[in-house]
Amino acid sequence: MPIKILPARLANQIAAGEVVERPASVVKELIENSLDAGATRIEIDIEKGGAKCIRIKDNGKGVSKDQLTLALSRHATSKISHLDDLEAIVSLGFRGEALASISSVSRLTFTSKPSDQDQAWQAVAEGRDMQVNIQPAAHPQGTTVEVLDLFFNTPARRRFLKTEKTEFQHIDELIRRIALSSFEIGFVLKHNGKIIRQYRAAQTPAQIDKRLAAICSESFVKSALSFKSEESDGEASPLKISGWISDRLSPRLLGDVQYCYINGRMIRDKLVNHAIKQAYARLLPEGQFPGYVIYINCPADQVDVNVHPSKHEVRFHQARWVHDYIVSTLATTLSSDDAYVSHQRTE
Ligand code: ADP
Ligand code: MG
Repeated sequence: MPIKILPARLANQIAAGEVVERPASVVKELIENSLDAGATRIEIDIEKGGAKCIRIKDNGKGVSKDQLTLALSRHATSKISHLDDLEAIVSLGFRGEALASISSVSRLTFTSKPSDQDQAWQAVAEGRDMQVNIQPAAHPQGTTVEVLDLFFNTPARRRFLKTEKTEFQHIDELIRRIALSSFEIGFVLKHNGKIIRQYRAAQTPAQIDKRLAAICSESFVKSALSFKSEESDGEASPLKISGWISDRLSPRLLGDVQYCYINGRMIRDKLVNHAIKQAYARLLPEGQFPGYVIYINCPADQVDVNVHPSKHEVRFHQARWVHDYIVSTLATTLSSDDAYVSHQRTE
């Protein structure tokens, strides 16, 4: 076969393979866009586990009519423009691929109205070249992205979808994770027309505890030790960590509360896991894990988030420093806990 350039849709479908694994991955990308757009309220409407419909509505800054075509195009983003920007990413998105990828494997409409535009417009990418068509629509300030019939044109992927219930559980878990990273934002999650979760914007400590309890359980909030700490390596680059950890008394119950965020991004990180385990050292019996919610904040240029398309992994430039700082902060928190101290004494 001669070498040829692939049609846009096919190229986007190939790219979608990396990030659009299941309905929950679509929800993740779309909510990250809403958060990057400064939304304070996000509604997530799911039908049939997301296989039939995923609709995300936000009140963020929106996209103007003349930018809609770009928003749906691959390698088009408003979030970075130079290589330097990639070294210090402050937004959740930056790859400029999510909308193009998702719309290549579903029927996606993007409806938006920025505050300085009278009229809302709706964009759809059609055909093998993903030509973007735009028409007037009704919408308040913000954006709604509707994704129908996910994987309808990629049967191999569609076959891998699990039951409606399982796919929705993935979405539900995702919303919990996101709601724990953005307390100041209100979320409503519906499934088949029914409200399943509603997290009101939380600002005061009482409101924050309420959301924490709704997500991590009442007993986690009661027993968890909170911590907040800041360290500078001498230069003006402070590392901040805060959050909650379960004390050693109820680890079995709380082992499934394990949430870690770096600069607002949910991640799974070996380094962080290792640090947490080390902080608990002999405290937990083999095979048990502590419950934790940990927020790490560091200057954006100290962490590389462009490790994998799914953006679940990061690399710290000063990994050892971060690791040791987590260990010492958690160990200090645990040792100031009475239960921990009496446990140490009786050992
Ligand atoms: P990325 O988030 O990596 O930039 P996306 O394909 O997810 O790439 O989105 C492309 C662009 O569309 C974004 O850079 C942003 O400018 C715009 N956009 C997407 N979703 C929204 C939204 N909900 N509100 C405002 N702008 C949006
Ligand atoms: Mg994005």
